[in-house]
Order: sequence, then structure tokens, then C-alpha cells
Amino acid sequence: MWLLHVLIEHASLQLDRPFSYVYEGSIKHRRGFRVLVTFNHQKLVGYVLDSEHVDQTIAQLQATTSHRLLPIDALLDEEPLLNEELLQLALELAHDNFWPRISVLQAMLPLSLKPKKTALKGPKIAYETFVRVIDECETNLTLKQIEWLRIIANEQPFNKRDCRSPSVLQQLLDKGKVDFYRREKRRLSIEESPVERAPQLTSAQQEAIAATLASNAEVYLLQGVTGSGKTEVYLALSERVISAGKTVLMIVPEIALTPMMVAYFLKRFSGKVAILHSELTPGEKYDEYRRIARGEATIVVGARSAVFAPLCNIGLIVLDEEHVETYKQDTLPFYHARDVAIRRGKTHGAKVILGSATPSLESRARALKGVYMHLRLPDRINAMALPYTHIVDMLDPRNIDRESSLFSLKLRQAMSETLTKQEQIVLLINRRGYAPTLSCRQCNHVFKCPTCAIALTYHQHDHMLKCHHCGYLEAYPAICPDCNGTYFFKQGFGTERIVEETKRLFPSARILKLDSDSSKVRQTIARTLKKFANHEADILIGTQMIAKGHDFLKVTLVGLVLADIGLTLPSYRSSERTFQLITQAVGRSGRGQTPGRAIIQTYAPNHYAVTLGATQDYEQFFKTEMYQRKLANYPPYTYLMLMTLSGKSEDLVIQVADTLAHMVIEKLDRDIELLGPSSPYISFLGGVHRRVILIKYKRFDIIEGPIREIVELLSQKTLVRLAVNLDPYDV
Ligand code: ADP
Ligand code: ZN
Repeated sequence: MWLLHVLIEHASLQLDRPFSYVYEGSIKHRRGFRVLVTFNHQKLVGYVLDSEHVDQTIAQLQATTSHRLLPIDALLDEEPLLNEELLQLALELAHDNFWPRISVLQAMLPLSLKPKKTALKGPKIAYETFVRVIDECETNLTLKQIEWLRIIANEQPFNKRDCRSPSVLQQLLDKGKVDFYRREKRRLSIEESPVERAPQLTSAQQEAIAATLASNAEVYLLQGVTGSGKTEVYLALSERVISAGKTVLMIVPEIALTPMMVAYFLKRFSGKVAILHSELTPGEKYDEYRRIARGEATIVVGARSAVFAPLCNIGLIVLDEEHVETYKQDTLPFYHARDVAIRRGKTHGAKVILGSATPSLESRARALKGVYMHLRLPDRINAMALPYTHIVDMLDPRNIDRESSLFSLKLRQAMSETLTKQEQIVLLINRRGYAPTLSCRQCNHVFKCPTCAIALTYHQHDHMLKCHHCGYLEAYPAICPDCNGTYFFKQGFGTERIVEETKRLFPSARILKLDSDSSKVRQTIARTLKKFANHEADILIGTQMIAKGHDFLKVTLVGLVLADIGLTLPSYRSSERTFQLITQAVGRSGRGQTPGRAIIQTYAPNHYAVTLGATQDYEQFFKTEMYQRKLANYPPYTYLMLMTLSGKSEDLVIQVADTLAHMVIEKLDRDIELLGPSSPYISFLGGVHRRVILIKYKRFDIIEGPIREIVELLSQKTLVRLAVNLDPYDV
């Protein structure tokens, strides 16, 4: 009989310990497979961490244990889900970050393989049926049958679906001339693209490549201005690594937003590429994952979670646009793709390249200290000039356009000139929907989300109010719930309103919109971007999604409708975000033959994030912002740890938060700075109250032990949950 030590699917620190179940059948492996078990009268999926063979009967075993031993309900896998490297990685990540182990295992695997009940409904392997000839003798066959027999023999592998004459096929089968066989099907269909050769590399590109190959550093920061040709560096290094028999992991912020990157890899490496990202169906993802695990793909191009792709023998890991915040997952496990990439790089002895025009302060500071090797591409390809930029102060009445409350005179004029020249325009507003708040004109009542308590955004296209945090929906009100008033005020503006305004001012312009509203529909992003790239539209309006990575050659004007929205958010990263957004957006302009310009509308025309973003002066921004971070003691001068407590009883959450703060101060007073306990930005979500504590520390090795003791102590509480987030972004 086997005693199985099982992690339960619920991701909480309280349950992060193995529970024992018995199994009387046989197993092929000791660990790494899923089982169905009964836990607290519920059927749950568990992950077997280990198992031991015992010679006792259940009754004998039961006599020696205090809790009731249950048999498992079913064995769900034969083979382990993860290879040894990934399993070790999962356990290490969980340990080092104070995460429940099961949460990391769930994050690593595609839907169908997750240790989670929802996985049981996930897609299974899809098969296709093929036909092959088993007897070539043509005697006693009709001409029609002979014709098909020859076609099938000549066109191997022959898909059954491709036979336009099923009755003849049936006759051939009956006569024992052919038979059927099944093959696993790859659901993702990728357009065949002609193989393309690399261009002649510039000397800067060649130097960066040579320096990388000559060095034995583990991590490289490739800092190159927008349009400097970083992608060719990734491709050239990939070629080297592939021809040395190793594999490549290429991580991008979001594939739909960077279709060019996938296209480049497909053109250079065609059949060897697997693609993993959120726009694939679960079935497609499952197939791609299994192709990688079987070793059929040597290059994986994918978004954040692709950093866990089961590639073996990795020679190169690239994280493009390394500064992008979506690389950090904001739910458990709070992993950062960069951290995981560097860990895997170490294990495999692979080179890790972090690429960006605007590196995160952390990465740039490490490059400065020599922890990462610093590579640079200082100029745009073909010495193309950076766009001419103009900052418009929206508080200055001279800039106000009487015709429009959203566009300044300068921007409207530039738009009209650009349209006349039949060039293209990108307009960026970092907020989706029509208006960010709706209020009653009579009593000023603001419509808010009942769970998150933040203002609901008005969306015009479906005439609804939406919570951008939890997705809550509400019909547009008929009357105010407070005063019965019937007139409402739509305050502020988002993408929809900019579209409306643009249509009004330029009725004949062809307009496309791109934000995460539209991207919910599969493939709309790619389609919209393609349309725009083909000049089937004149103006593209969108959120920060459109600021990244595209290479539109006919765009000569970029307008940031309100560049400083981010500056007003309470976060130590707000300047960095704003600078990055402006730099990336401005970089979209003038990438073709014609020089470009960018117009930046702002209420903070003198803020360094705005002025330095406009001139794309990363180095000066880095210096200024590092100084600010030093003054305020924020990363990279310190590390942060966010501890969140949550529970149904607000009193209890507050009480435990106080206890936690006391414990931390008692144990670590001299080594840390503690902020809180305080209410987070969203303190009440889905019926659960939350309190947070922020710890600033310099050395993990000093605080690790005491923090671990405290975490273990609090993990025994059942009514209040603790979650730990190292290097949190939203503080
Ligand atoms: P980045 O990622 O640094 O912003 P890209 O990699 O998108 O820049 O390159 C910008 C443009 O320059 C692309 O259209 C790319 O095809 C082109 N390009 C890159 N390297 C070369 C080269 N050596 N010769 C000619 N064109 C190049
Ligand atoms: Zn909400």
C-alpha cells in the first residue's frame, strides 16, 4: 500500500503542508502527479509531493495516526507533470518568497494540467485521423478506387479530412487496401511565412553580439533607444545558440501587442517555434506546452508565464522590454518573470538578456554596479532622427482650442496637417472607457463599485458602468439612488471619448481604437494593428497598449492627450511609469522615411518625467529619479516587502495586523523601516477586508529568519489570511 503526501489545491499558507492519503493500487512515480481526494467533505485536486510504500494495512496504519486516513478518490496522471528542474524551481520560489507551494505549481502549468479542479474540465489531447496504404495491389479495383489509392500513397501523411470521396475511402478500407491511424493534432495554426535572411547588421549590433558571446557574465542589460534594432540582436544570438544545439526562451510583454516579434522568429526559425500567450485557447496552449515538453520546439516565444516553459538545455533567455510592469504577477504567486528568468539562466548556464529603451531603475542600477553586463545601442537604425517633440501646457489659456476641450490648438493643427499629407497619427490616452466617473448633477453622488468602492467608469458603446478593477457591471442609472435626480455628469475622459471627439473634428478620417476593452475579443488586437500597419486607417487611438514595440512606418505624429495621468497615482513608481510611457510613445513616431513629431499635452509641463521623456533622455532621468528614490528611501536603495492580511471580519483583520506589526518591530526594529498597518488603495474586495504592512529592508539574509517565524505563526490562524509580496509594484 502507498501513503501519499498531498498538497491540496487551495493556495493559502494555512494549507501549505502535505496531507496524507492512502492508495492500494500501483504508481509509476513517487511524486509529481495529481490525485482526486476528499478534503473537508469536498472533492479536491491534490498534487503528490512524495509517497512511501508501507507494508501495513489501512487498519494497522490508522491505529498509529491521530487523524482519519482516507483513500484517494482517483489517480489523475500517470507521469509527473513537471520535470525535475521545474519542480525544484517551484519549491525554491515558494520557499524564498513565502508563497504556498501549490500556487507556484498552478502558475507554471497550462489549464488542463494545473493541480486544480477546474483543470478536469480543461481540453484533452486532440487527434487527427490519417490514412495510409497497406496493400498496393490494384487488381479488382475500380478506376476511381485506384485513383484514390495512388493519391493516398503519394501524399503521405494523408489526412482523412482531405479525401473528398468518403465512399471510395470506405470501399478501400473494406477491401483491406488502406487503414487509419491517429496522430496528435496541433490546434494552433500558424501561417507559413517564407524564411527570411538577416539584414547586414550595423556595427553597434555586431559589437553587442560579440561582447555577449565573448563574456561569461550571466545577465546582460541591452539598452538601446527605440528603433535601434534590438530584435536583430536577439535573433542573431538565438541563431548561435540554436546551432550549438541549445534552446531559446524569448519573453515578450504580450504577444498580441508584439506580433512583429513572433513574425521575426517564425521567419527565421519556422517549424522550431512554439508560441505561448494569453490569446491562445486553452486547447492550443495545451498542445504548445506538450510540444515543448516533448522537445519538438527549440524556441519558445511567449508572455510572462512562458518563463516556465518546459524547455531543456536552454542557452539563451531574452526578456524584451524588461521594464514592463506586466512581468510582475499581481496575484499569488507574485512572481516577476525577470527573477524567474535569472534563476533558470543560472541552472542552465544560459545567458539572460534584458532589453529595453527605458530599463527599470533596478536593472540599470545593477548594470551600473557591474552585476549585469551593460550593452548599448545608442542610435536608431540608419541614423534616423528621434522625433521632434513639443510639450503643451494645458493650464495655459493660450493653448486652449475653443473648438475642443480635449485637444489643444497645437495638437489639432498638427493632426490636420498630418491627415492632409496622408500620413498616420497615434493618439494615446491611458484610460479606457468614456468617462472615469459618473456623478449626479443634483447631489454629487458618485457611482461606485459595491465591492471595490472605487468609481465606476462609464462606457458608451454598451451604455454601462464598469469597475475596472473587478469587472463589475451596472446598467446606466435612470435615477440617482440618493436624491432621485435624473441628470448625470460624465467627468474626465477615456479612449471612447477621444474617439468621439476625433470623429467630430475630423469626420472623414478613418479611426481605429485599441484598448483592453477591444482586446477581450480574440485576435482583434492583431487585426487592428495589421489594419493600421496597412494604412487602412489614419488614426489609431488607444491606451498604453499602443505605446509598445510597434513599427508603423507611416506614423509621423504621436499625440499624448494627457501625459501625466500616471503622476497623480500614489505610487513611488509614478515618475518612472510616466517617463517610460512618454518615451515609448514618442518613439512610435517617425520610424519610416519621414521624420516624426510628438505632442505631449500635460498639466505638469515642468515635471522631469515629462520633460526628459519628451527628449528621450534616459540617462538624465535615471540620475534625477535615483536621487529622488534615495531621498525617500525607495528601491533600488532599499527592498520592499508587502504583507497583506485579509478576512471577513474587519475587526479581526485590524487586530491581527497590529499584532503582526508589533512582532515585526520587536524582532527587527534596527534592521527595517515599517510603514502601517494601513488600508490599501482597495481595502474591501469581494466581501473581504484588507490591511497592509510595508517593510523596507536592506538585507534579506538578516530579516529572513525572523520573518519566516512570524509567517509560520500567522499561518496557524484560520480566520485571517496572510500573503507576502516581495518587491511589490503598487505601493
Ligand atoms: P527596437 O526594438 O530597438 O526599438 P527594432 O528591433 O524594432 O528596434 O528595429 C527597428 C527597425 O529597424 C525594424 O524595422 C528592423 O527591421 C530594422 N532593422 C534592425 N536592424 C537592422 C539592420 N541591421 N539593417 C536594416 N534594418 C534593420
Ligand atoms: Zn469592483
